[in-house]
Amino acid sequence: MTDDTLFNGVLLAVFASALATVLLLSWVNAPYGRHQSSGWGPTIPVRLGWVLMESPASLVFFYFYFTGQQAFQLVPLLLMVVWQLHYMHRSFIYPFQIRVKPGARTTMLVIALGSFYCGINGYLNGTYLSHYANHLTVDWLTDPRFILGVMLFGFGYYLNKRSDRMLRELREQNPGAYQIPRGFGFNWVSMPNYLGEIITWSGFALASWSLAGLSFVLFTMANLVPRALANHRWYRETFSDYPRDRKAIIPYIL
Ligand code: NDP
Repeated sequence: MTDDTLFNGVLLAVFASALATVLLLSWVNAPYGRHQSSGWGPTIPVRLGWVLMESPASLVFFYFYFTGQQAFQLVPLLLMVVWQLHYMHRSFIYPFQIRVKPGARTTMLVIALGSFYCGINGYLNGTYLSHYANHLTVDWLTDPRFILGVMLFGFGYYLNKRSDRMLRELREQNPGAYQIPRGFGFNWVSMPNYLGEIITWSGFALASWSLAGLSFVLFTMANLVPRALANHRWYRETFSDYPRDRKAIIPYIL
């Protein structure tokens, strides 16, 4: 099998599994966080789970990126930096920032599947940028797709990180409990951190103008939209005073 055949085959498999994921997660909630439940096999400490699950997206990306002939060209380098900005944080800083409920654990099955996907995603995007993306020359810096994509990435990143920080602050006020988050993106939706994540990777896909990037946005949506709907239902069922006009993930729409 040539490298091209492998790359295209894996890409196709990710598109197909995004479809399978949205169908599966519309039916069953991934067992972690507020949907953690017994009966899903062994569990591990929450922080360790996050590191193991997310780090392949950073490390595997690095490995494949630096085997490519375009690794030291300006535009691929910039895209590599924004990718790593997100993933170094998510893998090695975020897990030690979250306020974990005492004794909380997470399901190994979720970590194993997430880790496998993150490795595949690192392979696809790292390989694409430095092996295949011939359009990412210096001229691409002034292309509207690049400019808009980077702006979207920045906005999504801010929305995601600020919303996650607000949730941490809520936990600090009331350790071990869930409360109704209020303010900023929570004025519109229950899960602004998920919305931020989707906008971040839409920006990356646009800025890199790649099917690898598109596969990641679709997979992220397949993961996060059903969970946002489930979390929104959970909030409404748990808190009788939950704001009635707040949507799940897309302001005014969903
Ligand atoms: P959640 O919003 O469910 O939880 C984030 C943290 O905040 C957890 O520590 C959670 O505690 C705590 N928390 C949540 N709601 C409340 C509340 N109402 N009151 C107090 N504390 C609260 O997000 P996830 O854990 O699902 O995801 C974390 C990050 O990872 C997000 O930024 C998300 O976008 C990203 N992510 C990306 C994915 C992708 O496919 N790209 C997939 C999954 C996540 P507890 O754990 O106890 O519930």
